[in-house]
Amino acid sequence: MFNKDIVTAFEQKETPFFYYDLALLQATLDRALTEANKYGFHIHYALKANFNERVLRVIQESGIGADCVSGNEVLKAVEVGFAPEKIVFAGVGKADKEILAALDHNIFAFNVESVQELHVIGDLAKRAGKVAKIALRINPNVDAQTHKYITTGLDENKFGIKTWELSDCLDTIKSFDSLELIGLHFHVGSQVVDLNVFKSLCVKVNEFNNWFDERGYRLKVLNVGGGLGVNYTDPDGEPIVDFKRYFEIFDQFLERKGHQEVHFELGRALVSQCGSLISRVLYVKNGIKKNFIILDAGMTELMRPALYQAYHKIERLSSEQHNEGGVGMLTHYDVVGPICESTDCFGKEVELPESKRGDLIAIRTAGAYGEVMASRYNLRNEIRYVYNDEIA
Ligand SMILES: *Cc1c(COP(=O)(O)O)cnc(C)c1O
Repeated sequence: MFNKDIVTAFEQKETPFFYYDLALLQATLDRALTEANKYGFHIHYALKANFNERVLRVIQESGIGADCVSGNEVLKAVEVGFAPEKIVFAGVGKADKEILAALDHNIFAFNVESVQELHVIGDLAKRAGKVAKIALRINPNVDAQTHKYITTGLDENKFGIKTWELSDCLDTIKSFDSLELIGLHFHVGSQVVDLNVFKSLCVKVNEFNNWFDERGYRLKVLNVGGGLGVNYTDPDGEPIVDFKRYFEIFDQFLERKGHQEVHFELGRALVSQCGSLISRVLYVKNGIKKNFIILDAGMTELMRPALYQAYHKIERLSSEQHNEGGVGMLTHYDVVGPICESTDCFGKEVELPESKRGDLIAIRTAGAYGEVMASRYNLRNEIRYVYNDEIA
C-alpha cells in the first residue's frame, strides 16, 4: 500500500495522523455496489465506523444510503447530502430530541428496539403531524431449529426486540396512526468472518418474515444489518472483502416475498482497509525480557486494541530499504503508545526490523472504529489526517 513516494511524503509530515486512501475506498464501494446491484440489494453505510468529512463525501457520492445510531449522525448524514429517504436510524436509546430531528427530515425508517420506544415515537410523530416508518429490530439470537417465532428463552441482550414481544409491538403499532410498519431489522454483530453466520441469519429472518406474512403483514423491507468482517492480518492480500460471496449468500438463502427489498448496513467492510494510523517511534527501550517501541500515537488515536484487545497489523515504513527487499535484523517488540495506561499497547511481541527513534510505523486496517473513537485523554492533540491525493 505504501510505495516509496508515499513513505517519502510521510517523512515530511508531523505524526501521528490517519492516512486515508480514497482511491481504495472508491474501489471498495464500486465492488460492493456491483455485487449488491446484481440482486437489487440496497446498501446503507454505518456512519459510526468513520465520519471523516472526505470519507463520508466519497461514500455519499457513491449513492448508497446511511445507517445512523444517533440524532447527530442523522443530521450529519443529511448535511453531507445523503438522501433522507435512504437514511435509517437505529439505536437502543434514542432520545426524544433525536427522534424529533429524524422525523423532521422524514427519514426512511426507524429501527425500533422496544415496545416502549414505539409508544414514544408514536406520540412524538403524532404531535409533529408525521407518520414514522418503522422496522422492528428483532434479536434473532435463538436456535432456529427449536425455538420458533415465539419464545421466552432469549439471551439477555440490550439490543433488539424479543420474539415474545412481537405481538405487543403489532398491537402498539395498530394503536397509532402515526406509525407505519414497513419491515424487519436484524444486526447480529460485527467483524463476522464465518459467512455461515449469515446463512443462519437468513434462516431466522425467513421464519420471522413468515410469521408476519401469516398475520397479514406485507412488509416491504428486510434489513439484515451489517457485520461483515475484514482481514486484519493480511490487509494487502485482501484489501477488499469478498462482497461477491457475501451477497450471494443472501440471494441464495433469504426468501423474499413479492417485491420485498433487502437492505444492508455495512460499516467496517467499506472503510477499514482504506485507513492506516501513521506514527513515529519516539523511544526504543531494550530490556532483558522485553523490547519496547514507544510510539507518538496511542489509544487516544486508535482505541480498538485497548478496548477489544483487537489485532492490527503493524509495519515499519522506510523509504531507504524500500527498493532493496531486505529489512535488516528482525526483533520482537511490544509496540506501545505514550498514554498513561497499561492497556495503551498496539501489539505484543511484534516482529519488526530493528527500529530506532524517528522510524515511521503504520498501523493497518484502521479506517473503521479508529478516528471516530479518538479522544483528548491526557489532553492530546486533535487527530490529524492525510489523504492519498494530497501526497500523490
Ligand atoms: C454498528 C452497526 C452496523 C455496522 O456494523 P459493521 O460491523 O461495521 O458492519 C450496522 N447496523 C447497526 C444497527 C449497527 O449498530
